[in-house]
Amino acid sequence: LSPSPVIGRFAPSPTGALHLGSLVTAIASYCIAKQAQGKWLVRIEDTDTERCHPKFSDLILADLERLGLHWDGNVRYQSQHLDTYHALLDEQLKAVSYGCDCSRKSLQTYQLAHPNTQYPYPRICVHKRLSRDHAIRLVMPNNPMLFFDQLQGVISGNPQREQGDIVVRRRRIGRSFSNTPTASKGMINYMLAVVIDDAQQSVNQIVRGLDILPLTIPQMVIADYLNFPPNQYYYHLPILVNAQGQKLSKQTLAEPIHAYPAPQLIKTALQLLQQPPIDMDKPTTMLEQAVCQWDHTPLQGKQRIEVDSLQNLLATC
Ligand code: GLU
Repeated sequence: LSPSPVIGRFAPSPTGALHLGSLVTAIASYCIAKQAQGKWLVRIEDTDTERCHPKFSDLILADLERLGLHWDGNVRYQSQHLDTYHALLDEQLKAVSYGCDCSRKSLQTYQLAHPNTQYPYPRICVHKRLSRDHAIRLVMPNNPMLFFDQLQGVISGNPQREQGDIVVRRRRIGRSFSNTPTASKGMINYMLAVVIDDAQQSVNQIVRGLDILPLTIPQMVIADYLNFPPNQYYYHLPILVNAQGQKLSKQTLAEPIHAYPAPQLIKTALQLLQQPPIDMDKPTTMLEQAVCQWDHTPLQGKQRIEVDSLQNLLATC
């Protein structure tokens, strides 16, 4: 029996343009998949209609193209698969999910009154049998689980204690008068969509930032509920932090990369990923060289990479 071909992916949420942090993830996931002679897919994770915008999807894809990061197959947009997520949630996951009408405020009040509560969500609604028009939570088991990460080693955690029963769909809003179908059906959370997509796209290699590592075990639980095969390879990359120790993200106003030339951006990203220097000068050939010489050992056990401003970094390339 020959091993199944590697299928990796880059799955940005279009809540902003690509920045150095997401560029590093894109390049690392590309190199790791291609070095294993695998496919590299791109998926736009746009279920959150309040934070995502199509103009950012277009910007991200245009940046990937000019960087020579050519994806295999068509780009998948989560917003085009909402019916699938709703159907699996209401059918296959019905027995392990429940309606919840707790608000942020009512939860805070509960936690103040019960200071010894150990879990992030104290399961207030688990036996109430509320309608599925409310937010839907998924039952997380209260036992230790583990997985192996190619960069971070053995990771263990108890999904009930660490994440609690997670909300996988927000409450349905104004069914009769809402003009946005997403709001009236309830907004699907990334946690559910990502698991379904990875399985439906036969992804078996997941490369992403360390900030998502705590969500991996709950995602494994969801995959198991849905009888999906477990993912084979995880690589959680160190996160980029600025001089103040903050993660580079849209929230910390990380600078978009689209005004900068592709060759310098690729060199900078590879330098941050502690890869050997590149002597090519066109994006496509630079990436070919990067794939050939890719070596993830310097990243093993590494949790953060401190970075200077984009301008300063590019100046040293
Ligand atoms: N869409 C997520 C993000 O942009 C990444 C999800 C993943 O790689 O699993 O942070």
